[in-house]
Amino acid sequence: MKYININSPEIKSISLVAHDNMKEDLISWCQKYQEALIPHTLYATGTTGLHLEAQTELTINKLISGPLGGDQQIGALITEQKVDIMIFFWDPLEAQPHDPDVKALLRLAAVWNIPVACNRATADLLITSPLFSTSYEKSIPDYQQYLDSRS
Ligand code: PGA
Repeated sequence: MKYININSPEIKSISLVAHDNMKEDLISWCQKYQEALIPHTLYATGTTGLHLEAQTELTINKLISGPLGGDQQIGALITEQKVDIMIFFWDPLEAQPHDPDVKALLRLAAVWNIPVACNRATADLLITSPLFSTSYEKSIPDYQQYLDSRS
């Protein structure tokens, strides 16, 4: 696979997802960093989004609930370069009915070089990075070259 460089924009598109046992953690993280999150475009899976709207001042673009397809919607956004950062507090201690979707989402985030925080410590480091609120260059798969190589 060949890669091309793109600019991750200053105003980022951030997806927020938390499994049920992790929702409290994500909500308190979003409350703590609300001021830093406000300028960015936020997406969340359905139930995570509902809780965030109720317990923060953040404006959330709500997708479908994760087990009903929300994880896959975020995956689709990633392939369209509409996600710059993913905060995904998945539950390491409980199997989920939609485990295949969780794996698929994490895989696509790796393919498209998306910074992913799966726990609070990583999320803390990500949001306090100088790159969080500036534009920076990163590489993504060169899809045109991929198509050309297969024709
Ligand atoms: P939810 O989905 O926000 O609708 O609970 C999260 C998930 O389990 O993927």
